[in-house]
Amino acid sequence: MILKVSNLEKTYKSTVSFRALKDINMEVYEGEFIAIMGPSGSGKSTFLNTISTIDKPSGGSVLIAGKNPYKMNDNQLSAFRRTELGFVFQQFNLINTLTVGENIILPLTLSNIPLKEMNKKLENISKFLGIDHILNKRTYEISGGQSQRVAIARAVINNPSILLADEPTGNLDSKSAKDVMRLFKKLNDSLKVTIIMVTHDPNIAASSDRTYIIKDGSIYQQIIDKGDKRAY
Ligand code: ADP
Ligand code: ADP
Repeated sequence: MILKVSNLEKTYKSTVSFRALKDINMEVYEGEFIAIMGPSGSGKSTFLNTISTIDKPSGGSVLIAGKNPYKMNDNQLSAFRRTELGFVFQQFNLINTLTVGENIILPLTLSNIPLKEMNKKLENISKFLGIDHILNKRTYEISGGQSQRVAIARAVINNPSILLADEPTGNLDSKSAKDVMRLFKKLNDSLKVTIIMVTHDPNIAASSDRTYIIKDGSIYQQIIDKGDKRAY
């Protein structure tokens, strides 16, 4: 099991206290493609943020690859994020003073990986994602679809245990969205990347293995879409 979420709670305490996540339980196995759906404001982003160590839960526990990130100190946590988790968002969050290639290897430059190995990884992942011809371009010279491919390459170049995506096609036209979804499928099928993706799009959710519907901070329903990899 790559992710075990038990009795997860999140309460925001501002002027009034708001219980955004209520007793969430979820088990995800290696290589699964999980979609998270639900109405706006139901807690999808909060869920992704709490399991991804961005936002501290108010209760319950999160185990990623058997480790509890919330028991780590700041140094351990940032190393853990860098090596175990990959993030893709609706906004591509690329750094526009760097080239495409420099953006992709950014997570590696923080590790002590030899330059030659770094370039090899860059070459492999950019070929796999069909962006090896734009590595020297600036981020403002490429399209939205290409930008999201670059963000995906950056997210997976460290071979993370889980790829977390929050509305990754939300800023794309429908053709680019389809292209990007094909790439997520390819990453899942060929490289066995475990994916947890928040999406509004039922077509996208249908290409996952399982879909969880969140309503009012609780898991309302679980749908088996493609087949249950947990049996293996
Ligand atoms: P979704 O991603 O499903 O649209 P969110 O997780 O962003 O939903 O938000 C769930 C609920 O929690 C919403 O009612 C939102 O207003 C509230 N919320 C989110 N972040 C905060 C915060 N930092 N402080 C207070 N309330 C928040
Ligand atoms: P999304 O649905 O994609 O999460 P939102 O507009 O709901 O987008 O939230 C964007 C950001 O604002 C999130 O980081 C969330 O935590 C924060 N946020 C949302 N609602 C509130 C709120 N009521 N108070 C403070 N922060 C909030």
